[in-house]
Amino acid sequence: MRDCLTCGTCCFSNLESYVRVTGDDHARLGEHAESLVRFLGNQAFMRMTDGHCAALTIDRESERFVCSVYELRPRTCRDLERASPACEGELATKGDRPLVALRVLGRSPPA
Ligand code: SF4
Ligand code: SF4
Repeated sequence: MRDCLTCGTCCFSNLESYVRVTGDDHARLGEHAESLVRFLGNQAFMRMTDGHCAALTIDRESERFVCSVYELRPRTCRDLERASPACEGELATKGDRPLVALRVLGRSPPA
């Protein structure tokens, strides 16, 4: 099994309401909440961009997937343990998406 830094699968989704942000999560995110949290109705979620959580940083060179707010991440993310049934479910349903994202980045002109 891949380690999380070379995987990133559970940070990918096409749903806008993917990672729920509770009041405690919002407080923990502090100054990052304004740019990373989006409200849908009266519920808050991590903002999604390009098919993944906006807090996910994809390093094309090292092919690593890093949570930019790892120490502050929402409870949902903390509860998803590597190699757990939930993790395996993520890999089974979306395991190709990080690799697709790397390929798309590889086609982008250098910044
Ligand atoms: S918890 Fe599982 S799906 Fe999520 S990044 Fe780690 S190995 Fe990948
Ligand atoms: S907050 Fe971090 S761990 Fe959670 S989905 Fe976003 S990038 Fe992944």
